[in-house]
Amino acid sequence: MLFTKLLIPTLKENPSEADVVSHKLLMRAGFIRKLTSGVYSYLPLGLMTLRKIERIVREEMNAAGAQEVLLPMVQPADLWAESGRLQKYGPELLRFKDRHGRESCLGPTHEEVITDLVRNNIHSYRGLPVNLYQIQTKFRDEIRPRFGLMRGREFIMKDAYSFDATEAGADAAYEAMNKAYHQIFSRCGLQFRAVEADTGTIGGSFSHEFMVLADTGEDTIVICRQCSYAANLEKAACSAAPLSERREEKPLSKIETPGKRKVDAVCDFLKIAPQNLLKTMVYIADGRPVAVLLRGDHEVQTVKLKNMLGANEVELASDQECFDATGVPTGYLGPIGLKIPVVADLTVTTMQNFTTGANEKNFHYLNANLGRDFTVEKTADLRMITTTDHCPLCGGELELPRGIEVGHIFKLGTAYSEALNAKFLDSNGQEQPFIMGCYGIGVSRVMAAAIEQNHDKDGIVFPLPIAPFQVIILNLGFTDDAITTAATDLYQSLREKGIDTLLDDRDERPGSKFKDADLLGIPFRVTIGKRFSADGIVEIRDRKHGEITEVPFAEAREMLTKMLTEAII
Ligand code: ATP
Ligand code: MG
Repeated sequence: MLFTKLLIPTLKENPSEADVVSHKLLMRAGFIRKLTSGVYSYLPLGLMTLRKIERIVREEMNAAGAQEVLLPMVQPADLWAESGRLQKYGPELLRFKDRHGRESCLGPTHEEVITDLVRNNIHSYRGLPVNLYQIQTKFRDEIRPRFGLMRGREFIMKDAYSFDATEAGADAAYEAMNKAYHQIFSRCGLQFRAVEADTGTIGGSFSHEFMVLADTGEDTIVICRQCSYAANLEKAACSAAPLSERREEKPLSKIETPGKRKVDAVCDFLKIAPQNLLKTMVYIADGRPVAVLLRGDHEVQTVKLKNMLGANEVELASDQECFDATGVPTGYLGPIGLKIPVVADLTVTTMQNFTTGANEKNFHYLNANLGRDFTVEKTADLRMITTTDHCPLCGGELELPRGIEVGHIFKLGTAYSEALNAKFLDSNGQEQPFIMGCYGIGVSRVMAAAIEQNHDKDGIVFPLPIAPFQVIILNLGFTDDAITTAATDLYQSLREKGIDTLLDDRDERPGSKFKDADLLGIPFRVTIGKRFSADGIVEIRDRKHGEITEVPFAEAREMLTKMLTEAII
């Protein structure tokens, strides 16, 4: 296509509202524009990349035996009431009434709609298995839409749902999606890891998240340096180091710790290590306070806590809520004599003669011991894993890189089919609930994640398979007929070969053409300028490595074809 015929409103400056590099570059390169908070328009280049990602997704989903459908975005609230999620989903579900006063919502995901479709249309095991997918706009009224396409309110998702008659069938469907996802993200040219994810309270059996590795990712993932273990923070299991020897329990004593509230301050003051301090955090779980005990140098992993308590929502109590629940100012809390339910992280069971708050302003206890001085309702792994922990599988060293979740696969089991009474007749004529799986890809997030992973100071460095164009030709002799003819000829012949080519035919200075070509991230740039006039040479530059190849004009097409093939392999 011709640059002059395309809407590519590039910007010289970073837009002030953009914090992350993908948002800045997508705006600067003229790929997207914001309409309102978390809602974006895709301009021609943005849409081209989106379509390339979609195409890869479609090809792999179809190859895995899934069938494409397109489901409505507006969904009746009744269906959500039936599954029980109308209450649970919270304010991310945008609800409204139509002119007849009927409650509706905008689909943030489609388990309800698809289960309704299948329960009304598949009645026998003979119609199974089936896997239905769509690529469609979702709406989630995110509390903090941010980072451009990374966390929008309106975004494009590929969502697939499998229905099986048997557990073995459902497991095979999951495995087929796992494979397809590996194919999809590899074909997009991304560095990624599939990590074990938490299945929460839904009762599903397993789940993996696909994470694009990028230092700017919102998530931290846990990877073993020695074996194939990879999990997200919510799932990564921490073990409590075994107690080497039981020491004698010393007598409990109270000590004044004036104004010392934080772990570091108490430890400095008493000259103890944080490993010898027990900290007490108050959380509000579904409206009720609960105290969580953990070692001074550890942090709570709230999803683990939520699962242990079987709660829908768990949040750290504010200082005021904490005081209202316990009568103790934060900083001096401890388990001895505390009047609210107390749970503990597993590591606490290995601590002895530790220091902890005395539930009295400016006082701590020394030599407290679990069992002798207080009890807890439950213990479980409640803490965030760290690099000082070891791999739960092989004991190896752990790494905690950052990642961006671009896909999620989940074996749901029968949670939705039972709630929505979606059943089929098995081969014995017995009614059974469908065994389901759901599989999402954040298609628009993939575009942003690809840029977070692939950029430099000059702009985007697109992986070839998802670049809007494969080649950009710069005509640097706008007023020179020979150069213009050569540029146009090469452009035509590349297009005839099916190579996506952009011809920069603008009346602009070479400097700004070079800058824009770098900003847009098109993998190969061909320059036709002075060298062409002098010696008939054109210059091909590879955006990623900056390598320059000079070739006679007549060989340019062949050379580019070769380079493109090699880049794909
Ligand atoms: P997150 O933890 O990032 O909010 P999620 O667990 O809510 O994601 P899913 O419900 O599993 O996400 O949705 C499937 C995929 O859709 C995610 O893997 C992600 O790539 C994408 N996605 C989810 N929320 C958004 C959003 N607000 N903007 C863009 N993409 C999103
Ligand atoms: Mg979410």
